[in-house]
Amino acid sequence: MKLLVTGGAGYVGSVCAAHLVTAGHDVTVLDDLSTGHPDAVPEGAQFVKGDLTEAAADVLAEGFDGVLHFAARSLVSESVQRPELYWSGNVVASLRLLEAMRLHGTPRLVFSSTAATYGEPEQVPIREDAPTRPTNPYGASKLAIDHMIGSYAVAHGLAATSLRYFNVAGAHGRFGERHTVETHLIPIVLQVAAGTRESVQIFGDDWPTADGTCVRDYIHVDDLAAAHVLALDHSETGRHAVYNLGSGTGFSVREVIEACRAVTGHPIPAVVAPRRGGDPAVLIASSEAMIGELGWRPERTDLATIVGDAWRFTREHQGV
Ligand code: UDP
Repeated sequence: MKLLVTGGAGYVGSVCAAHLVTAGHDVTVLDDLSTGHPDAVPEGAQFVKGDLTEAAADVLAEGFDGVLHFAARSLVSESVQRPELYWSGNVVASLRLLEAMRLHGTPRLVFSSTAATYGEPEQVPIREDAPTRPTNPYGASKLAIDHMIGSYAVAHGLAATSLRYFNVAGAHGRFGERHTVETHLIPIVLQVAAGTRESVQIFGDDWPTADGTCVRDYIHVDDLAAAHVLALDHSETGRHAVYNLGSGTGFSVREVIEACRAVTGHPIPAVVAPRRGGDPAVLIASSEAMIGELGWRPERTDLATIVGDAWRFTREHQGV
């Protein structure tokens, strides 16, 4: 298929673009490089530098079979302080993209949604029919886009899938996580091992969990990318499917730090700090729907494998 990957120079977008090229698709990456990196566009993909509001319509005019939409702002704390960036950069820009797709008759969409659409869960594992009560503008903006996509499927026959990721980690060859502002646990812990940061802060050790630290569901970015390829292949005209994507196992902050110590051989000093605003205690996905309906089989669920791949990537990029 001829596919447009928005945000394909970012972390998840670049790994998915690489998987799509390998699967034999004709891939064009559209990215404004506000947070992405030009060298993260995979070989074999075309690259267009531009943003969704201005460039998407021009590019889609060439005629595409589908769009995989990753381009977004994704920092929770920034979204609390500057919500306008999220309503504009995520919601308005996605509306422009949907309109460009409608204008040019692009039939399929796979959207990068998030577990943040659910907010504080009543039950874990979290299923797709759980209440959606996002606790920050980032999650609210992604939920608004999910609703827009649903309405376009009904009204305009779009074949659409929203994939709600839990905690994405790991790397794929030379494609991995390198944010200018790093907020995620595993890259931060590995920065300590690489010597670019002195210690890691544990945001609260008084949570109602076995060791008092928050529990999250870490999914390998390769398993995530495989799910996007499946979602594209199974998309149906006029249907908006929503699937959660995680490994189904929770690991605490302390367990993650311990796994990083084992993989890197570095002592990784950790300091307990106050809780971070907006963090739920436990987030674990039920991926039963994706597994049962689309035959998804996550293969790299072991924390040591996930951390090991991320560590190899960190060393290559930081010259450790
Ligand atoms: N966390 C932490 N120290 C850090 C970064 C994150 O203790 O320097 C915790 C955070 O409070 C959460 C978990 O690690 O419980 C995962 O956070 P991350 O930002 O990686 O992902 P999120 O779950 O917020 O999407």
